[in-house]
Amino acid sequence: KRLVSGLTKTRDNIVAGFDSIFSGYSSIDEDFYEELEEILIMGDIGINATSAIIEHLKEQVAEKHIKNPMECKQLLINSIKEQMRVDSTEYEFENRKSVILVIGVNGVGKTTSVGKLAGKLKDQGKKVILAAADTFRAAAGEQLAQWANRAGVDLIGGQEGADPASIVYDAVAAAKARNADVLICDTAGRLHNKKNLMEELRKIYRILEREYPEAYLETLVVLDGTTGQNALAQAKQFAEVANVNGIILTKLDGTAKGGIAVAIQSELDIPVKYIGVGETIDDLQKFDADAFVNALFD
Ligand code: GDP
Repeated sequence: KRLVSGLTKTRDNIVAGFDSIFSGYSSIDEDFYEELEEILIMGDIGINATSAIIEHLKEQVAEKHIKNPMECKQLLINSIKEQMRVDSTEYEFENRKSVILVIGVNGVGKTTSVGKLAGKLKDQGKKVILAAADTFRAAAGEQLAQWANRAGVDLIGGQEGADPASIVYDAVAAAKARNADVLICDTAGRLHNKKNLMEELRKIYRILEREYPEAYLETLVVLDGTTGQNALAQAKQFAEVANVNGIILTKLDGTAKGGIAVAIQSELDIPVKYIGVGETIDDLQKFDADAFVNALFD
């Protein structure tokens, strides 16, 4: 229920167009496909994913001898689900001792998402520790401390400008000493300086490998859903510097651009694992692509 209400704007954006074409056309012709293509692209599904979806739909329509536009709505929904299929959507970090590295550029909702995720895992009965390893942005540490407080979890921090890797080192020691289940590291994401970012991440990975080899490692990228195609471009860039296991797509509550989740999964084959649908600690949801498509298109 919350999923659907959180996605109202995206849904309105897409469904209005759908209603007009599925009832407005009497036959399935090139004009129909062109208008459908336009609606999907306007819905931020992306050019490549849209082309693939329409191609798949055309095949299905031919194969099943469908003549009436109304009848191809369900086929379209299935085609979108098909395009969103990714190899792995596992949440293995829930079942094992693990470290979650969270990366993302300023302002996307990274600190907020780390706080929400901490609260979520704590609610599952896990011992969670946060590491404030984004030492670049002033006040990031203070903001994370507030979230740690709200979630009721421990925080390992450092001075502004401190070496992120040294904070991760301290956090690993704390995680081991306190027998934590999950260590969540809020790390930086300066995409305009890829070389530095890559070096910083490499240093962190090396410490984790050496000091905490028993921990399962998950890297999540946080993207701002309101930026539409820019979010897709950012995801591509992060995938070049890190082994990204999943995406947290934020701010879907305030945007009509939620279709970007389709583009991300379709084009990058990286699963969206969580979506942010508000500013409070409960506003982070596990992402289920099929439920998402049903909520948006049905
Ligand atoms: P960071 O710079 O990436 O760490 O971003 P912050 O976590 O500070 O978030 C930036 C702003 O986005 C804050 O005002 C958050 O409250 C807001 N925000 C984060 N996630 C969401 C979300 O899912 N929905 C809404 N509406 N706002 C969000």
